[in-house]
Amino acid sequence: MTDPDCLFCKIVAGDVPAEVVHTTERTLAFRDINPQAPLHVLVVPRHHEPNAAASAEADAAVFAEIATAARSVATGAGYDDYRLVFNTGAGVGQTVFHTHCHVLAGRPMGWPPG
Ligand code: 5GP
Ligand code: ZN
Repeated sequence: MTDPDCLFCKIVAGDVPAEVVHTTERTLAFRDINPQAPLHVLVVPRHHEPNAAASAEADAAVFAEIATAARSVATGAGYDDYRLVFNTGAGVGQTVFHTHCHVLAGRPMGWPPG
């Protein structure tokens, strides 16, 4: 499914520019426009679903591909240690309702996140 009003569908389609750093058959990875760490990349499935669990239900393989693409992005940038975040719901800060995995690395990160 492609949502004509979805920003990340437009990036996947090439209709909105983005700095793409990695691609696979089912995923696209591009730099976040407002980086929160020296490495901040978003890995998105090409197929539109609103959140991580919905993507996993729609196609379990895509979820594995997001995780391995995220590792490739991090290790390719020289980071063996990295954080993956899937915000799910506006109450925890999700603003784009197309599944995306934040790949963050390059600075100390506290836990729990605040
Ligand atoms: P969320 O808050 O939904 O988990 O994450 C959405 C992310 O998308 C944010 O980190 C935000 O900076 C990023 N973002 C929003 N608009 C754009 C855009 O047009 N291009 C890119 N590359 N990132 C965007
Ligand atoms: Zn979408």
